Amino acid sequence: MKTFSIFRNHAFGKIQQRAFSTLLRDNIDRKTSASCCIHGNHVTQTECNISSNNLQFWSRAFSSGTKKVDLSHVPDIKDFIKSSQPRIDHVNLDEVPPYLENAVYAPPPNGKTVYFEMYGCQMNVNDGEYAWAILKEAGYMKTTDINMADVIMLVTCSIREKAEDKIWNRLKQLKSHKQNYHTPGYPKIGILGCMAERLKKKIVEKEKAVDIVAGPDAYRDLPRLLERATTDSTTAINTMLSVDETYADIMPVRFDQESKTAFVSIMRGCDNMCSYCIVPFTRGRERSRPVTSILEEIRILSEQGIKQVNLLGQNVNSYRDLSETQHSAVEVNTGNMSRGFKTIYKPKHGGLRFADLLDKVSQVDPEMRIRFISPHPKDFPDEVLQIISERENICKQIHLPAQSGSSNVLKLMRRGHTREDYLNLVERIRTLIPGVVLSTDIISGFCGETDSDHEDTLSLMNLVKYEYAFLFKYSMRQKTHAYHKMNDDVPEEIKSQRLQEVIQVYQDVLPTVHQKTVGKTLLVLIEKDKTKVPNTVQGRTDGNVKVFIPNYDVASSVTSQNTRTVCTGDYIAVEVTSYKPNSYRGIPLYHSSVRSFRVDEQKQRSEKLKSAV
Ligand code: SAM
Ligand code: SF4
Repeated sequence: MKTFSIFRNHAFGKIQQRAFSTLLRDNIDRKTSASCCIHGNHVTQTECNISSNNLQFWSRAFSSGTKKVDLSHVPDIKDFIKSSQPRIDHVNLDEVPPYLENAVYAPPPNGKTVYFEMYGCQMNVNDGEYAWAILKEAGYMKTTDINMADVIMLVTCSIREKAEDKIWNRLKQLKSHKQNYHTPGYPKIGILGCMAERLKKKIVEKEKAVDIVAGPDAYRDLPRLLERATTDSTTAINTMLSVDETYADIMPVRFDQESKTAFVSIMRGCDNMCSYCIVPFTRGRERSRPVTSILEEIRILSEQGIKQVNLLGQNVNSYRDLSETQHSAVEVNTGNMSRGFKTIYKPKHGGLRFADLLDKVSQVDPEMRIRFISPHPKDFPDEVLQIISERENICKQIHLPAQSGSSNVLKLMRRGHTREDYLNLVERIRTLIPGVVLSTDIISGFCGETDSDHEDTLSLMNLVKYEYAFLFKYSMRQKTHAYHKMNDDVPEEIKSQRLQEVIQVYQDVLPTVHQKTVGKTLLVLIEKDKTKVPNTVQGRTDGNVKVFIPNYDVASSVTSQNTRTVCTGDYIAVEVTSYKPNSYRGIPLYHSSVRSFRVDEQKQRSEKLKSAV
């Protein structure tokens, strides 16, 4: 009888554990006895020999009683699920990877410098901050001068072909930078994130300059990968996806230490499988970071003087923390979906949900603004809307990606809702959160989109009147449902034309949207005390619109005669005087705070009324 013990680690999540158990059961050829202990779940087989390559690997790794593991054939999720080709990994490792227990880290890199470039969404910026925290801990130093860098890390995006094209072009430039560099073989170039996950070794084959390829769940492994790429001059690849990696124990190191705003990742991955989207394949399964670790990070950020956190996730309002069992009773009775929405997937029960998280997060520091991105329309139950409405420090701004205004297209996209459901949700949001600022994402030219579907999108935009919008042409992505089952049948020029029309409608409604703000006094968080325009500072409204104001001292409070300067991180009451397409101009009135602003506003209104009478 042989006993295999597999310890909980990031490389071996629950799905893999289950799959491993199944493989054990399915691979008997009646020679050896084996017992497998996975998280206390004993899977015992008598007379069993392990015939799959993957199991031989684990057998070698664990039966010898040593934790020294050759990771060159570590199975990834695909190996377990589809029993596919062995994973190709250029790294031949003979030491324990850092994410295994009692990990041996790579030796200190002797003051090597690393330079980061981030592409794509805010999640990628935050991923870069995690990667930097891990490399800093391993002894690397950061440089903002690419010419001084021993290592160049690109945190990449795969969402559309255009996003990947940008990286390919950048890699060509970096290749020539490397060829002209004073030290042969340097700088080491790393591709991190979604493109690494999507293309794996293809990146190395196409662009010979790349030394490291690390998927979004492999950042802990960066010191080891770098060490390997340095000592062996081989390309080191780790694109294993995890089902439980949330980097919960790592405090990301912010790139902009001057900034008063910060990103906080609360969940990773996506289980929704919209038919056009690559995210579930590049970012893996949905998993939420334990609430305790989120609150701790926000507490630390508050102590550091951070005035705004942006909670991040591919599907941020699907947040569901299962780490503490006492949460499991919380939401069974709530359904946790937007009113009237149905899900095409199995509903998930148990866990602490997004409304509970917002409740807790907003209490950490009442003077800290809370935003979140990117949510899915289906996950806005009334509880979420109510907490946004009640808490002064949760911004009254909701990004509500529509993707299309046509129910036919939404069905093809597998969004799980109709145009009517979406419009009802908009109405519900505006009822519960008066004055809310809405923004959206639209895709033009999806498979099967007719002229009439496109007209529906234009009419949706006219009806909702978004304050801002992210507008895209459909870009076919391999692996997705649409790639396999649908025709990318809208000609390129029609896609472009439709996109132009969507942009035009968006721009046409903006004056109506912004005009009603002119003359109002808004609370603005100052983000930059210098801008391109001399003596001008830049801030942001609660609704996330940029505001430019002249830089002069203003009253310390609404009632004070004293004045003081306007600095980054200050809350200033600003009267909006005019607008440009994506920003306001205004006059700074007085220093204020999240808590006192509403009270001040109400007082002023009633004083105005009194004097008018
Ligand atoms: N999770 C959010 C949701 O469900 O609405 C969206 C997150 S996704 C990372 C960001 C946006 O990229 C999407 O809302 C969509 O508009 C756009 N997008 C995703 N796949 C695309 C594709 N294949 N072509 C064009 N745009 C795409
Ligand atoms: Fe992509 Fe968002 Fe759909 Fe997930 S919910 S598959 S991230 S579009």
